[in-house]
Amino acid sequence: MASIGVGLIGTGYMGKCHALAWTGVKPVFGDTPDVRLASLCEVTDGLAQKRAGEFGFAKATSDWRALIADPAVDVVSITTPNQFHAEMAIAALQAGKHVWCEKPMAPKLADAQRMAEAARRSGKVAILGYNYVQSPAVRYIRSLLDEDAIGAVNHIRVEMDEDYLADSDAPHSWRSEASAGYGALDDFAVHPLSLIATLLGRPTSVFGEMSKPYADRPHQGGRRAVETSDIATALLRLPGGIAGAIHVNRCAWGRKGRLLIQIFGSRGMIVFDQERFNEVQVYVAEGRPADQGFRTILMGPAHQPYGRFIVAPGHQMGFNDLKIIECRALLARIAGEAAVAVDFDEGLAIERAVHAIAEASRKGAWVEV
Ligand code: NAD
Repeated sequence: MASIGVGLIGTGYMGKCHALAWTGVKPVFGDTPDVRLASLCEVTDGLAQKRAGEFGFAKATSDWRALIADPAVDVVSITTPNQFHAEMAIAALQAGKHVWCEKPMAPKLADAQRMAEAARRSGKVAILGYNYVQSPAVRYIRSLLDEDAIGAVNHIRVEMDEDYLADSDAPHSWRSEASAGYGALDDFAVHPLSLIATLLGRPTSVFGEMSKPYADRPHQGGRRAVETSDIATALLRLPGGIAGAIHVNRCAWGRKGRLLIQIFGSRGMIVFDQERFNEVQVYVAEGRPADQGFRTILMGPAHQPYGRFIVAPGHQMGFNDLKIIECRALLARIAGEAAVAVDFDEGLAIERAVHAIAEASRKGAWVEV
């Protein structure tokens, strides 16, 4: 394929990240088809036209079905709120388009199952926005585990904390509506689940707890009930007897984008925190106890694909670069090549774990995934 036509639905926080990724993927990687920014969709014609002008898309529409039907569109980026993913992704796949859909798949497991079935039936490539598995740091951690750098892994803990809902007066939005899902579980915990699956495997059983720190939030001059849980905790049983734990909190004052991974092994441990995006810390218990301590490894061209972005070490990559790597993985898969990405089948396994954690929280008991 010499060129690929892109349709983008939604232009909020993630929509802009997808637009930047589509613009950057060819200059960064060089080996992709030419990208045509064909059509963009927003809730009103005015907003769609404004964003199309800013992002450089040829056409603008407020009708996402028209975007999907457009023959100039080969691949659809879906960056709308969670409750719209299933309908849009299934329609795009049925129209013969490839799909890059933001996580989570859908608030209801049955919808996620329909999405995975539609992807299988279509023969098209369908991946999800699990950007953190694309990080050079996470790839480096994976290589350390493959090389047995910390011995046999016995425990992994992943925490994801942000404070964008920490203020009880932060406005009500789709993120606090039950139609978007459970809350922190499908907004945040899906990322730790994708990372744990990539690094160590999927959980076989889970225990969970969810809580809601604030009952209501400002809405249209009054206050509206919060229907979701902004805090969630899960214990996981992983293959090989590895113990896992996930803590996620959207109301965590002071934490801006913390995604902390700690992996403990029989001879050492590995630490990564998204707020220190370009650093991996490794502790190996060897040599004299007096000399033991953490080594901090700064990501650079030796940790690919860092070098595709910038040849100089120490100059740092950032979040939007993960989206460019994810976009490259999508294009590689469309070209029939292998590439790290969470497809709809792997995404469905994450959704199963999410619903099992919610069920465990309701029952107060371990649930098999
Ligand atoms: P957002 O509210 O900033 O943006 C959503 C956009 O979709 C808005 O501009 C809205 O007008 C538009 N929209 C809504 N309905 C539409 C429709 N019918 N047609 C066209 N446009 C429509 O939300 P966001 O933070 O960008 O989140 C969007 C998705 O991205 C969510 O599923 C979220 O879970 C996911 N997300 C992923 C990450 C990540 O790290 N991968 C981070 C944040 C959000």
